[in-house]
Amino acid sequence: MGKPPVVIIGAGIIGLAHAITAREHGHDVVVLERDGRALGASVRNFGTLWPIGCASGAEREQALFGVRRWAQLATDAGFWFSPQGSLSLAYRDEAWAVLQEFTSSVGDCELLDASAVHHRFPAARPDGLQGAVYSPAEAVVHPPSTLAALADYARSLGIVLHFGTPVVKVHDEAVETSDGRCIAFDRLVIAAGEEMRLLFPEALAAAGVQRCRLQMMRTVPQPAGFALGAVFVSDLTLCHYPAFATCPSTPRLRARLAGELPDHTDWGIHVIAAQHDDHTLTLGDSHEYGLDFDPDSHSGVEQLILDALDEFVTVPDLRVASRWHGVYLKSTRGETQVVLHPRARVTMVTAMGGLGMTLSWGLAARTVESWRS
Ligand SMILES: Cc1cc2nc3c(=O)[nH]c(=O)nc-3n(C[C@H](O)[C@H](O)[C@H](O)COP(=O)(O)OP(=O)(O)OC[C@H]3O[C@@H](n4cnc5c(N)ncnc54)[C@H](O)[C@@H]3O)c2cc1C
Repeated sequence: MGKPPVVIIGAGIIGLAHAITAREHGHDVVVLERDGRALGASVRNFGTLWPIGCASGAEREQALFGVRRWAQLATDAGFWFSPQGSLSLAYRDEAWAVLQEFTSSVGDCELLDASAVHHRFPAARPDGLQGAVYSPAEAVVHPPSTLAALADYARSLGIVLHFGTPVVKVHDEAVETSDGRCIAFDRLVIAAGEEMRLLFPEALAAAGVQRCRLQMMRTVPQPAGFALGAVFVSDLTLCHYPAFATCPSTPRLRARLAGELPDHTDWGIHVIAAQHDDHTLTLGDSHEYGLDFDPDSHSGVEQLILDALDEFVTVPDLRVASRWHGVYLKSTRGETQVVLHPRARVTMVTAMGGLGMTLSWGLAARTVESWRS
């Protein structure tokens, strides 16, 4: 009898990145996914691949590696991939100071004054604009169609995918599915997203991980001729990502925004506008932390997101075509990825917060590489 396969729980981006990477390294791979298709955070996000949000050093390198992988896979697996870059706009003195500090430490970004922004990105709102940073490193994919294409591509590589197959228990050398089957593994990767807590709750609790719910929306397709030309963010976002946390002016910006926009601060709102190939804009998001959340979508939160959007972009048609929530796990200790080994040969990968699409390929490479030693 041959060696048992690498078994992966979850066909979200973390599971598929591990499956494809393991297969490329010669492993037999079986993916077990609870639902009929990926329906978790991996299909509920903006689809932005976001090195600009990552702390400089190893994490930024991991993100840049991820974007290169995404670009190659777009060709191999056949999905839309738009290397459009990002535009971080500053409307407050403190935000402009943060961007200037940021660009002095990250080489491949362009600092633009307000008139250059107006010339290159006419959708950016000019009133009160101090300037912006254009970064070419960011890209956009369309999450639902991308995840479906990656699953097909995984199959074409010889990976076995079982959808509609929840794993209910992990034994020492096998997993048990809800229909009573036991599937032996050589290595097990648990990439179960926010449901991780159901399999090894103690390990997860000890790692300091919390749930976060985010409110999102998508507009109707914008009229022909309208293009953002990059993913747009502004002042609120500069307080959100690790990349800007070390800029000396970030605490001043945070304090000003907390005073001016207390409701946005309470709901953890920062706004990203990402345009997809169908000309819609994906807009969000808010951040609620806790164990349990109300089932309701809050129209007040949606309005706060739209109000913040209005500060930095002029959108021709702001009718909202769909709304949804996403949930992810996030470290309470400021880590952007949590890797646990609750048992021998078992790896749990979680808590990638709002950067899982960006960091997944680099993390998968690291996991599979670690099996060689
Ligand atoms: C609103 C929102 C916006 C975001 N924006 C971005 C962004 O722009 N850029 C970025 O890089 N990241 C972004 N993220 C983060 C990113 O989406 C996540 O970090 C990433 O998708 C997590 O992937 P995952 O595979 O761990 O989880 P999931 O996609 O949730 O996948 C987990 C899978 O495991 C399955 N599963 C669970 N339990 C079991 C079980 N017992 N048996 C079998 N299967 C099981 C689930 O059905 C699910 O399909 C965003 C997240 C959200 C929610």
